[in-house]
Amino acid sequence: MLRSKQILLLSHCLLNVNAKVYKLANYEGCFETLLSPLMKDGYGFIQLPCPELITCGVNRWGQVKEQYETEFFKEQYKSLLKPIIYQLLDYKNNGYTISGCIGIDGSPNCGITKTTRGKWGGEIDDTFNLEETLSSTRSVNEKGVYMEVFCELLDKNNLDLKIYAVDEADPISSVKNILKELL
Ligand code: SF4
Repeated sequence: MLRSKQILLLSHCLLNVNAKVYKLANYEGCFETLLSPLMKDGYGFIQLPCPELITCGVNRWGQVKEQYETEFFKEQYKSLLKPIIYQLLDYKNNGYTISGCIGIDGSPNCGITKTTRGKWGGEIDDTFNLEETLSSTRSVNEKGVYMEVFCELLDKNNLDLKIYAVDEADPISSVKNILKELL
């Protein structure tokens, strides 16, 4: 039977950059530089739902972690991720290998080793101080909200996965390290 039984979970935009906030794309469609060698090595992919596209749409603004860190979003994320957890449990119980999950560093939701915080929000009118808002932005060494929820669900279900990250600001530099581990 032709199947590798090796599966990787991917943040949605690694397979479909169209989900990202406008202007953030670093490739045209799929992140081929990373995914092509993995495909050739026989990995199958599970595409995680994009939490931002689903909750806020394609015309959303870029946001910071604080803006997604509400109980409502966390509950929505749990609902999106539970069907993925059920699939992982079924694969695991049937001898498949879940080789890891690749998230997106810098994202307020899919960040793994770093995410973005800041004092953002409010009405954008003629008193709005863009410079002040942008200068409040900082990179912090935390997961994004969606990945926090996902990792909690993995733990609760005794699913032990390796978690990797592509850096949103410089995706190419992340590829070498991820491929070194997975190939
Ligand atoms: S990083 Fe996560 S939230 Fe942002 S576009 Fe990709 S999948 Fe969606």
